[in-house]
Amino acid sequence: MSLGASTLPFTKRVEQAMEDDFLRQAVRRTQDKLRGGKERAASDMGDWEAWRKRAEAIRQHTIQHLDTYLDQFTTQVEEAGGVVHFADTSQDVIDVVTDIIRAKKARSVVKSKSMVSEEVDLNRVLEDAGVEVVESDLGEYIVQLAKEAPSHIIIPAIHKNRDQVAELFSKEAGEKLPPETHILTRFARERMRQKFLEADIGITGCNFGVAESGALVLVSNEGNARLTTTLPRTHIAVMGMERLAPRWTDLDILLTMLTRSATGQAITSYVTAITGPRRQEDGDGPEELHVVIVDNGRSSMLGTDYQSVLNCIRCGACINVCPVYRQIGGHAYGGVYPGPIGAVLTPLLEGLDGWQELPYASSLCGACTEACPVRIPLHDHLLDLRRDEVAQKETSWAERLAFKGFGLVAERPGLFEAGARSGGWLARQVAEDGYLQTGWGPLKPWTDTRDFPAPARQSFRQWWREEGGKADE
Ligand code: SF4
Repeated sequence: MSLGASTLPFTKRVEQAMEDDFLRQAVRRTQDKLRGGKERAASDMGDWEAWRKRAEAIRQHTIQHLDTYLDQFTTQVEEAGGVVHFADTSQDVIDVVTDIIRAKKARSVVKSKSMVSEEVDLNRVLEDAGVEVVESDLGEYIVQLAKEAPSHIIIPAIHKNRDQVAELFSKEAGEKLPPETHILTRFARERMRQKFLEADIGITGCNFGVAESGALVLVSNEGNARLTTTLPRTHIAVMGMERLAPRWTDLDILLTMLTRSATGQAITSYVTAITGPRRQEDGDGPEELHVVIVDNGRSSMLGTDYQSVLNCIRCGACINVCPVYRQIGGHAYGGVYPGPIGAVLTPLLEGLDGWQELPYASSLCGACTEACPVRIPLHDHLLDLRRDEVAQKETSWAERLAFKGFGLVAERPGLFEAGARSGGWLARQVAEDGYLQTGWGPLKPWTDTRDFPAPARQSFRQWWREEGGKADE
């Protein structure tokens, strides 16, 4: 399994992000734009809460009956002439895809956006095997040239400005390109058009699979998914096992929620539904269609407190409202999935070991839960993960002793007050301008990143007594 995009420790990644003023400015601007668009689109729908409940019910039902719908979907894809492969692990995904590539003697692959392929690090593996891989989504193409991971699930290059893109494209073009949007997009379009024509294989993700028909539904704004699935002779779709909608009528609701929550659009420029490879009467399309259905840790969430995480439709709305993402951007999370959904999903897919800081990368304000179109209780899951993290780690003797001591003092009101008074006095002696700026011992990591207000001269208990309050009031 490979969700890691950075080998730096979490605090270092956050420090780096906090020093990057451009990144924070770009993230804020885009977050505000996307959030505003989503709010307008939601209010146009009337009772948005009722729509959310409907979408949640569809996703809950689908995940509760996932085995039935996977079975139905597989049968339908095969009846339409496609080949279905099940991949339990990231290595299985790589093995399936490389086997197809070898069998086809393919040398070049064109891809449209797929978070699952990022999850299993497919590009790197294919490139190591000597296959040319070109990302056809503009944002993905930019981060591919920059040799970076996407920093947002909808807008992969949110952290890059025009000048940086011009620099990347100039290197690729072998000539200086000005930082003008129309020139840069024209360069990318011309470059990709050639790659589409030359590619042996097209690889896509899959926004939804429709169980009743075996159709793969792809949503894009650039038309690149459509070219990826029609020009190359072989199409491989890599989809998470949870990405199903039972019927077209369910898909209708889910698409309504996805596009509005992601970008504030009523519908994206292209919604493509593919059922099987090219038939005789079709004018275009691939000769072979392979669908790789990926588990990679997802089934371990079924039947647990975390099952609702599988309801996610990857709209990015939780990322667009998150105050922590606003400050640190996507790369600081370290995994492929950033923001609140990443802070929940990555430790669930990979385990807490190595990702134990992610559940703490949240203010627990609940904005993510409120924004989620399928009502996933993200901040509750973050709390649950913190609980799991504490339960599974070995507590140091010093921590155990400290809490034991606190328990003893807290049980004795007289002792508690005496302790609070002397502790408060001591803290005020070292405070500067009303704040503790340099802590010691376990307080130090806290004051390294923020100031701690000095305790008040008068405690609440003292004030209460002076005001004539009684203990039981
Ligand atoms: S958790 Fe909800 S808001 Fe976040 S990406 Fe998934 S569906 Fe969208």
